[in-house]
Amino acid sequence: MKIVMAASECIPFVKTGGLADVVGSLPKELAKLGHDVTVILPKYSVIPEEQQAEFSRGEEIPVPFAEKMVSSALFTTVQHEVRYVFVEHDGYFGREQIYGQADDGERFAFFSRAVLAVLQNREYPADILHLHDWHTALIPFLLEKDHRYKDLQGALKTVLTIHNLQFQGVFPKELLTASLQMDEQYFNEQGVEWYGNLNMLKTGILFADKVTTVSPSYRDEILTEQYGEGLHPLLQKRKADLQGILNGLDTSFYNPATDLAIEMEFDYTSVEGKGVNKRAVQSRFGFRQRGDIPLLTMISRLAGQKGIDVLKETLPGILEKNDVQFVLLGSGEEQYEQFFQKLATDFPGKAAVYIGFDEPLAHLLYAGADIFLMPSHFEPCGLSQLISMRYGTVPVANKTGGLKDTVHEYDAAQQAGNGFLSDFSKGDSFDDAIQRALTMYQQSSHWDKIKRNGMQGDYSWSRSAKEYAEVYAGVAER
Ligand code: ADP
Repeated sequence: MKIVMAASECIPFVKTGGLADVVGSLPKELAKLGHDVTVILPKYSVIPEEQQAEFSRGEEIPVPFAEKMVSSALFTTVQHEVRYVFVEHDGYFGREQIYGQADDGERFAFFSRAVLAVLQNREYPADILHLHDWHTALIPFLLEKDHRYKDLQGALKTVLTIHNLQFQGVFPKELLTASLQMDEQYFNEQGVEWYGNLNMLKTGILFADKVTTVSPSYRDEILTEQYGEGLHPLLQKRKADLQGILNGLDTSFYNPATDLAIEMEFDYTSVEGKGVNKRAVQSRFGFRQRGDIPLLTMISRLAGQKGIDVLKETLPGILEKNDVQFVLLGSGEEQYEQFFQKLATDFPGKAAVYIGFDEPLAHLLYAGADIFLMPSHFEPCGLSQLISMRYGTVPVANKTGGLKDTVHEYDAAQQAGNGFLSDFSKGDSFDDAIQRALTMYQQSSHWDKIKRNGMQGDYSWSRSAKEYAEVYAGVAER
């Protein structure tokens, strides 16, 4: 099949979170299965120079936008049998940040029009257009309702994957009428409207041929009021077309046996190398360099979703009562950054904080830590727990979404399981789960088993890629 994906981020070019991991990995796996895969991305100026140096400049295509035809140059590169096409627009994508700009609505509405222009160009024919999150979720609506896409209509099927229902892309009505030049008649419940604004993700849920999300448990959760972010009635309507497919991990990018960002490579047969990484972390953060002190970590966007409020309740007590060390790598809401900074001041030599985004440091922490904390209130899939398990770091998590599907409480009698869970919906305390992990840490044969169970888990993309291929085949037949 000819599959085209469109998204706002993708490793190795640009990443702010798990979406980039998925859009970086799934195409490569689909290509391995024999599909023809193209990924369309904005040509952000933040894409590293050395990557951009590899791009070839292609033709310019006309993109209809706000009463004008905007001429946009395409750049291409091929990696791992996947074709990447970058859409240039310096005004929209030549920014220091990829999101959080006042004109985000306009920027991604333009990108959506550009994606369709690329497809009309016919150089990259497609059977399936796979879209990701709100940034590209308007496309199925534009494709269906704009007669300018007559040549694509019917033949091109769309799949929308929701990576996080919380981010919906809600913008003023003018985006529809002025920027997209679409008729006001679509500004209603059956169209793009959402409480007086345009909602991109809602529109995608209504118009895509198939909607998927990134774990079976999250799929079930978003049908409920508690997790549905207001869109659950619409998701209920599309229930038959809503499927949960668990994300995989790019096991060559996240491979402790070959990872050059860490101090010493290791695998499940030689976990001793993990100790070298632990000492490297301890030395970097000025901690005592002792293998027997449990080293806890968290690598995360600092947002409400991630359960920082839970850590506010539990971490000071944990650090008070136990001989443990804790490192946080993350950035986000100021209140949370301040909490962690204060924690580092209150517990010198025991807690440390690195505010920022640092991929190599993330790898070193995954490799060097013993325990990974993930008290997310909701988690569509979560990649951090998968990466930690692959690096022999044991997750302690809330039993929700993708965490519920991938982390299993260790059962000492059976020696089965790969982590520790607390179920916030049942009132379980996260403190208990951390204490269970710390108790087990003292029993080295069990701890070794938990680590190995995690390291030997199958988190590869090949299973998920097959499921996506089945989804594509299903919609293509309609
Ligand atoms: P989300 O997509 O909700 O942010 P995921 O767990 O799915 O959460 O994916 C997060 C990804 O981003 C992981 O690869 C994680 O290692 C990475 N990450 C998060 N924060 C940072 C940071 N400050 N520095 C480096 N990597 C980070």
